[in-house]
Amino acid sequence: MLRLGHRVQRDKRVTTHVGLVARAFGASGIVIAGVKDESVVRSLRRVCEIWGRAEFVVEDGVDPLEYIENWKKSGGLVVHLTMYGLHVDDVIDEIRSSGKDLLVIVGAAKVPRVYYEIADYNVAVGHQPHSEVAALAIFLDRLYGGKELKLIYPDAKLYVEPCPRGKRVVLRG
Ligand code: SAM
Repeated sequence: MLRLGHRVQRDKRVTTHVGLVARAFGASGIVIAGVKDESVVRSLRRVCEIWGRAEFVVEDGVDPLEYIENWKKSGGLVVHLTMYGLHVDDVIDEIRSSGKDLLVIVGAAKVPRVYYEIADYNVAVGHQPHSEVAALAIFLDRLYGGKELKLIYPDAKLYVEPCPRGKRVVLRG
């Protein structure tokens, strides 16, 4: 997924959460447009080291329009999440059945018009303003039909054993 508009001073936590959701909900990686932010990259890599998914891509300082153009050139589909788009339930089946690699874009502050035009789909997770973290989570959950929540990562050093009370974390030997 592509994170637009990251502001190093104020968006560290939200962008880290966008990355955590991307990783936990089945996306292949996060690329952060424009700026470099080593602390976000480090936090996300650390989670992958401990909880698995070493292959999860974390990149910053990426030129967003060039990235999108290359994505489209190599046959991928671009989905921009925005409250102004088409309702997710009206397009998710079509998007899923395209069988193409998806690049999902979320913004921070106001997203420039060019992204609405370059996207193959502008998709709304409801038409109320909320959050990029929520929008990404719900989009991916609809895309994978909830199956992503059961994924097990073989390279995890730690994993959780569900228990009704308390915490049970297992260290893989
Ligand atoms: N006011 C900004 C604008 O007009 O682009 C949106 C700011 S919102 C806090 C940040 C991001 O959350 C948006 O760029 C969009 O990706 C996502 N978002 C928020 N509400 C959404 C919704 N209802 N559907 C889809 N995405 C949404």
